[in-house]
Amino acid sequence: MKESDSAIVAVRDDFFARRSWQRKQCPLCLEEYYTKRDLPHCGSYRCAGGYPLLNIPAPKVYLELGACAENFREFFTTRGYRLHPPVAIVRSDERTLFASTAGQVFDDLIYGQSPQRDPQQCAVMQPVIRLQGIGLVASLDGISTSFVHTATECWNATTEKHFNSLDQWLDFFSGLGLHVGGLCLKLKCADNDWAGRTVTSEMLKINYDGLEVGVANLFFNITHQSGDIATLSDIGVGLERLVWAVNKSPAYFDGIGPLSSVTIHKRVALDAIRTATLMAGSGVVPDHKNQGSKLRAMIGLIMEEAQHLNLYELVRYYHRQWTSFVDLPVSREQTYSTIWSEINRGLNLETNRVLGIDEPFEQGHEEFLRRAVQKRVIPIARLWDIKRRTT
Ligand SMILES: [Zn+2]
Repeated sequence: MKESDSAIVAVRDDFFARRSWQRKQCPLCLEEYYTKRDLPHCGSYRCAGGYPLLNIPAPKVYLELGACAENFREFFTTRGYRLHPPVAIVRSDERTLFASTAGQVFDDLIYGQSPQRDPQQCAVMQPVIRLQGIGLVASLDGISTSFVHTATECWNATTEKHFNSLDQWLDFFSGLGLHVGGLCLKLKCADNDWAGRTVTSEMLKINYDGLEVGVANLFFNITHQSGDIATLSDIGVGLERLVWAVNKSPAYFDGIGPLSSVTIHKRVALDAIRTATLMAGSGVVPDHKNQGSKLRAMIGLIMEEAQHLNLYELVRYYHRQWTSFVDLPVSREQTYSTIWSEINRGLNLETNRVLGIDEPFEQGHEEFLRRAVQKRVIPIARLWDIKRRTT
């Protein structure tokens, strides 16, 4: 494990001691964490054995995603944080295909040639796409391939300033009805690869009875070519996870919605439609490479179910939800059209494969079938054979 920075550790230990938090070692994973209420383990999903938070009584008032977002904006702007607009979802640089963290609003400071020494702070609600967990969406609740990374970012923050921000976050949680006594802040020191530079962070994972709601990072050795060293305080949560932790509703997607669909459709399908809407709404078109290949794979996940759900309404719903956080350059009609065309293409390819034919697949599925029947490439009765296979 990476060595911690002793000056930071001293400030951190003092911060928690003055607020009567204890530092403990988890008997299960042997890692260290801070707790205010002497909680017996680190609160990670593994050590908690699932999500015990779902057994905690829910607050009387249900917190909606939009209301939580508004609370965040209000809380941090009144405490001197400038509200920074999110970066565009599609990244044109080489580092990532999509926006993946709120810290990217400071990319110019991080990767710029001339170091910027003056401290800067802002609050950001950044829609992000993270595809690493895609395989877990089906099996583990609380995972999604896109979410709103809701964060405070302080450039060149002192260690004291970083913990002052963390203190504000703890107040913010309390104000939402998320009791700080239920939190475990799990310690980690990590080396991060930022475009070939190793940047170390003192990290505290914010665990709440099984759920990692967010992370407080202090990156303390961002080295510029000139030799200047900067820091970045980056404290953020997944907005959807925070809402789930507050409401303690049966499923993570309850807070994302739409409520009329969460109880009917599979989480994987809703997640894929939501992420595909963000990608296509940001201007991505399905392709065999780069961002387009990710959109194609995402839509591939809903191919079978697409004919049995109201895709149009879902795309409309998610498009509206995303545009409450970020400007999408593509209209919701065009976004739907992009996704629907790709589904048609996929259905045509699948029909070609199943029937052993080779008809042009870049057209609507209805058109594809009609032409195949008209040209007598297939007798119409064969359509019923395909249907029986897929239902
Ligand atoms: Zn543990």
